[in-house]
Amino acid sequence: MGASHTQVNCLFCKIIAKQIPATVVNETDEYIAIRDINPQAPTHVLILPKTHVGDVTEVESRETLGLLLEAAVAVAKAENLADGFRLVVNTGLLAGQSVFHLHIHLMGGRVMHWPPG
Ligand code: AMP
Ligand code: ZN
Repeated sequence: MGASHTQVNCLFCKIIAKQIPATVVNETDEYIAIRDINPQAPTHVLILPKTHVGDVTEVESRETLGLLLEAAVAVAKAENLADGFRLVVNTGLLAGQSVFHLHIHLMGGRVMHWPPG
């Protein structure tokens, strides 16, 4: 990925560039999956595209959406979450998004309650 695909001062771009450490679960040319630093479930992984996109409303290709979902399902299988898991995409301030680089939360390993609050 060239510099034009990253955004200066974006935490997740820095993790992708290996300027900030993270626990990497899986990685391809297109995405990286890392353990959340503040896990809300026994398994809590973030799947992020390597190209900077602020949130899901800014995604321009179906391929990006598809590959991120595929990656999330692959990680869920690898993490033995066959009994169930939850995928979350917080979008915008009202949803509590705190890092403005698109990511899918994959959570599992416990009962996931509904409504989520
Ligand atoms: P969101 O609130 O949906 O934007 O999610 C951002 C997530 O990133 C939160 O669950 C944070 O715990 C997580 N997070 C913040 N900093 C780091 C980091 N350095 N490494 C891994 N996860 C992080
Ligand atoms: Zn970024």
